[in-house]
Amino acid sequence: MNENTSVSSTALESDAGSWQRSLAQAIRDPNELIRLLDLPDSLREPARRAAEQFGLVVPRSYLARIERACPHDPLLLQILPTASEAHGAERFTDDPLAESECRVAPGLLKKYAGRALLVTTGTCAINCRYCFRRNYPYGLEPSGLDEWEPAMRALERDESIHEVLLSGGDPLVLSNARLESLCERLASIEHLARIRIHTRLPIVLPDRVDEELIGMLKSSRLTAIIVVHANHPNEIAFDCADSLKALVDSGLTVLNQSVLLRGVNDSADVLAQLSERLVNLGVIPYYLHQLDRVTGAAHFEVPVEQGRLLIEELRHRLPGYAVPQYVQERPGELHKTPLL
Ligand SMILES: *Cc1c(COP(=O)(O)O)cnc(C)c1O
Ligand code: SF4
Repeated sequence: MNENTSVSSTALESDAGSWQRSLAQAIRDPNELIRLLDLPDSLREPARRAAEQFGLVVPRSYLARIERACPHDPLLLQILPTASEAHGAERFTDDPLAESECRVAPGLLKKYAGRALLVTTGTCAINCRYCFRRNYPYGLEPSGLDEWEPAMRALERDESIHEVLLSGGDPLVLSNARLESLCERLASIEHLARIRIHTRLPIVLPDRVDEELIGMLKSSRLTAIIVVHANHPNEIAFDCADSLKALVDSGLTVLNQSVLLRGVNDSADVLAQLSERLVNLGVIPYYLHQLDRVTGAAHFEVPVEQGRLLIEELRHRLPGYAVPQYVQERPGELHKTPLL
């Protein structure tokens, strides 16, 4: 066993910073959310019921970017549990990407050439109602570091893999100490060259981006790439913009992926503004995902034909590098499928 596994939970707690307090103070009670945002009382009961299926979690800093008394706020729609989630459209399932079929070890998914993905945690700082892993069986995946060894050994055996994606849940809900041990263990695998962190925390819990985290990522032997997840320009305000800037200024490559969502960003104006805000901070729009058909998210779906027209419109308005690739994840395909 290497020394990474000796990180104890007390060591993890000792580096508890302000972001961990922000996370603990996130709103989890739909009634509180509705009260704080002056939303109609009629939303309470549906929210309570939908939250039984997939809990409400929203950090207060995200709440500050939502307009009060506005049931159609594009940020609110991403987090408010609603009655629409119970309308299970056919063809919407619990495992829309057939991820259970590409699980090669506990917590390790291998779907594409050269890359593998670690489901590092089931926890997020925010619960996005459209999340394609909202019904993922996280309980089956590793939690302690020693439980990761089978996945690490599988990575060691497969020399075709050069990049490991840390996903989840959100890998940045792990403490810096925990992340560092994971990164060190990965760095010990010679054929790995890059580590990619898929995270929504710089957007929804910006104080997570601390110097220690940046220092750790910069000093790893592995080249680190950060892929954040913002869907609407209003998300990229205040402290969120500062965090993205800090990541970019440190020299890390920072990309953004979005999900095309009805009522949130199904408009060329919104998508163009989002791209503008991102590239102004040095963040490159990477993917615009067609919604994955997960149970409970049918009401967010935008027809592919409309998505294509939106991208077409973006091409007229923006520099080429500011137009994300419009893609769909299809089970069994060798890469994400471009929709143009
Ligand atoms: C999306 C995804 C990747 C990364 O794909 P890129 O096109 O390189 O961004 C890797 N593994 C899995 C399982 C994925 O779902
Ligand atoms: S942050 Fe990502 S993984 Fe977490 S709920 Fe949102 S979409 Fe899902």
